[in-house]
Amino acid sequence: MSAIVVGHKNPDTDSIVSAIAVADFMSKRGVTAVPYAQGKVPPETAFVLERFGFAAPALLPSVAGQKLILVDHSDRGQAPEDLDKAELLGIVDHHKLGDITTSSPLFFWAQPVGCTCTVIKGMYDFYGIEIPRNIAGIMLCAILSDTLIFKSPTTTDEDRKAVQTLARIAGVEDYAALGMEMFVVKSAVAGVPGRELLFRDYKDFEMNGKKVGVGQLEVVDLGLLDGVKDDLRKAVQEAKAEGRHTVMLLLTDIMKEGSELLLCSDDAELGKKVFTTADTWLPGVMSRKKDVVPKLEAAFK
Ligand code: MN
Ligand code: MN
Repeated sequence: MSAIVVGHKNPDTDSIVSAIAVADFMSKRGVTAVPYAQGKVPPETAFVLERFGFAAPALLPSVAGQKLILVDHSDRGQAPEDLDKAELLGIVDHHKLGDITTSSPLFFWAQPVGCTCTVIKGMYDFYGIEIPRNIAGIMLCAILSDTLIFKSPTTTDEDRKAVQTLARIAGVEDYAALGMEMFVVKSAVAGVPGRELLFRDYKDFEMNGKKVGVGQLEVVDLGLLDGVKDDLRKAVQEAKAEGRHTVMLLLTDIMKEGSELLLCSDDAELGKKVFTTADTWLPGVMSRKKDVVPKLEAAFK
């Protein structure tokens, strides 16, 4: 029986690519593994897969009775619904430790780096396994995506080094240009419903017993969002009304290096508490994981 490898809900490029890469890595370690996706792949990911000749992974079936490997998360809220009925073989991640526990030993590869694919690069290296050219290409893109082409404060030297090596393996000469191409694809949001954009890269957190959602849209120019902003505000309010204490959406301008905040909360003072300003433009705020979630959690304590 082959193992299932899957990333988090509302998949991003890292979650999809990490599932493909870990499935390849496991297969070379003698464990047949198949990548899956918890949802439709977003346009940026579709572009990356097509560029290097991959099809999108199939939608995740029930994992009951299956061997399972999770990538790019370790939170129950992000994991398959029937996680408890699966046998968890391992986790590969680069986030804060989540709330998943196991009844059997597992392998756990985690590092505080900018992307799960940087961790996976180290796994291949550890066992001296060659990274296939096309897998190096998509891993390269995942790191550029998660680190916002190295502009995110989550970026480490490990990520930069991994990108150099992966670009060489993949035969990509100008990785920054490839990164910009990716973000231009990601920025094409005209005509997409606000709700779909809010949930495209969105995570629910449990904070002191309250459900708190944080979405993020990364674009090369915030002006591109002018036409959809009213729709986005409405989507944030609707999501809040569906039983959440707070919903925030970060509209991140990767060139201006900051985010505009759309916020709807039971606590009218929350924005000020978290960001120490009532202003909606937040200079330097680029990373949900590093610039937002820790401060948000502190505000809920
Ligand atoms: Mn992710
Ligand atoms: Mn990631």
